[in-house]
Amino acid sequence: MGGTFDPIHHGHLVAASEVQSRFDLDEVVFVPTGQPWQKADRRVTPAEHRYLMTVVATASNPRFTVSRVDIDRPGPTYTIDTLRDLKAERPDAELFFITGADALAEILSWKDAERMWDLAHFIGVTRPGHELSGKGLPEDRVTLQVVPAMAISSTDCRSRVADGQPVWYLVPDGVVQYINKYHLYSDRQATWPRVD
Ligand code: ATP
Ligand code: MG
Repeated sequence: MGGTFDPIHHGHLVAASEVQSRFDLDEVVFVPTGQPWQKADRRVTPAEHRYLMTVVATASNPRFTVSRVDIDRPGPTYTIDTLRDLKAERPDAELFFITGADALAEILSWKDAERMWDLAHFIGVTRPGHELSGKGLPEDRVTLQVVPAMAISSTDCRSRVADGQPVWYLVPDGVVQYINKYHLYSDRQATWPRVD
């Protein structure tokens, strides 16, 4: 499951859990993006913070792991590179790429989109306020999956923190504590750990 995870929240975790269960997946690998090219217009939290929050959020689930492939690769993140790196690490694995319905709608504009279909099966998860549409996508490579509605976004979490509002129960407890520890999403954001 790819995402910026700035921060990771319960919408991401419920979506991953639903897809894991429906497809009986052995493992869900959360892959925080390096520099997301779609989000070049806003300041994204340093990758190391986003990676560590994802580790904290997923630590208790034996089927959830976190990969550094995107944050360790220099330059903007393209899904084709993510899939190739994951495939190189797990040559025998059948890959499923989990993404939100909003991202799936843009999928055709991705770099090397037509070559991605051979590398993974794509799962588009519902997200409140976003219509599911598989129009124009190859039916045998894409599945649309309804997940229980969680009207949570990272954008909303960031603005709540900036406004001094709670994010308890929107993100896992450890992530609330991590945000407070490093003063993320406020004027006092610490610069450590420095990566990008
Ligand atoms: P931002 O508001 O910064 O864009 P986000 O909440 O959309 O953050 P991302 O890291 O961009 O989080 O999301 C990764 C993927 O998870 C996206 O494809 C997105 O559609 C999906 N997703 C995010 N929130 C939810 C949710 N509440 N329910 C289902 N899917 C979600
Ligand atoms: Mg988003």
